[in-house]
Amino acid sequence: MVRRRRIILLRRLLSFKMQIKVPFLDLWSQHLPLMSEFNQAIQEVIESSAFAGGRFVTAFEQDFAAYCNTAYGIGVGSGTEALWLSLLASGVGPGDEVITVPSTFMATAEAITYCGARPVFVDVDERTYTMDPNALKDALTSRTKAIIPVHLFGQAADMDPILEFGRNHGIPVIEDACQAHGATYKGKRVGTFGDTACFSFYPGKNLGAFGEAGAIMTNNPELNEKICVLRDHGQERKYFHSVVGWNCRMDGIQAAVLRIKLRHLEAANQRRRSHAAAYDAGLRELEGVITPMEASYARHVYHIYAIRVSNRDEIIKCLADQGISTGIHYPVPVHLQEAYRSLGYKRGQFPVAEHSATEFLSLPMYPELTRSQVEQVIEGVKEAVAGGVQV
Ligand SMILES: *Cc1c(COP(=O)(O)O)cnc(C)c1O
Repeated sequence: MVRRRRIILLRRLLSFKMQIKVPFLDLWSQHLPLMSEFNQAIQEVIESSAFAGGRFVTAFEQDFAAYCNTAYGIGVGSGTEALWLSLLASGVGPGDEVITVPSTFMATAEAITYCGARPVFVDVDERTYTMDPNALKDALTSRTKAIIPVHLFGQAADMDPILEFGRNHGIPVIEDACQAHGATYKGKRVGTFGDTACFSFYPGKNLGAFGEAGAIMTNNPELNEKICVLRDHGQERKYFHSVVGWNCRMDGIQAAVLRIKLRHLEAANQRRRSHAAAYDAGLRELEGVITPMEASYARHVYHIYAIRVSNRDEIIKCLADQGISTGIHYPVPVHLQEAYRSLGYKRGQFPVAEHSATEFLSLPMYPELTRSQVEQVIEGVKEAVAGGVQV
């Protein structure tokens, strides 16, 4: 019995795999046309032995700072490290509080915890899913030492009121731009607004490495200095350690690969936007589906294209049956994660974050999607919604 069931399951799994027509993400289709460039760049790194930090990292830092239009860029090992070092350099430590949002990837809050500080959450805006600036005043205490708005899914948070709040209370603002490479707010690229801004180059991000990598952007020379020292064991000169730091250096091969991919970022974001426009046009009028809103201040770069549906499980299943893969970003808001039970948050405290988390459904989104794949997804969602709604 058990064995038979196993065979049936295996068959189902195999047939499911063979039928995938629209994957959620396809990095190979992005890398294939650039293979000879990658091979050459990686060979150069090998020949120069500049593996940990070094000249390829410096070159990428300069390129990405020029792209973001910031004075400094500091390559680190991941987006999580970028957040952590930004907080440390801003003076956040044990007993302090840092305000952020529950609608984000866990890393935003983890970085706060790693400084010994406490994450304090505020709810997000109903339509953009980014930090509600009006909620900040209720979260402020004498221990608040930083604010981290998250440019979720590739859309900038409403920075002006957040920055004004920070200025009025002398609190630094750190952008979590890990999902928003090339996104703009009122015409300026994200990464230039906060005291620092943190980017991730995790492979699936809009600008992705061939492994782990991240960067911190800043216009502040003192913060740049502090972060450069912190990321390299606290040494200002080799073997002279002025503070206790950590090893957060970027890897040379990642930097060499990222320099190549950066040249294609604008075109790739443009393609994401055009797929998003097609999804919008095809799904906007559909009853039971809420499509993402691009705020008037924003140029959204659609790291994630998340619709909202109330009967998510049925829709996912129906799409999977049609060979369309989907994702959920994120099923549990951070304040309700088991790891943060000790913070004492309760369901009901952040209604927008909590409700949207039950409805978010991420559709396939990557630059190399074809028109026909986008059409298949639109038709697939239409069919799923029509079939899934039981009156
Ligand atoms: C990916 C991500 C991070 C963490 O970046 P890593 O490079 O994976 O450490 C942090 N915040 C957000 C919003 C992210 O999406």
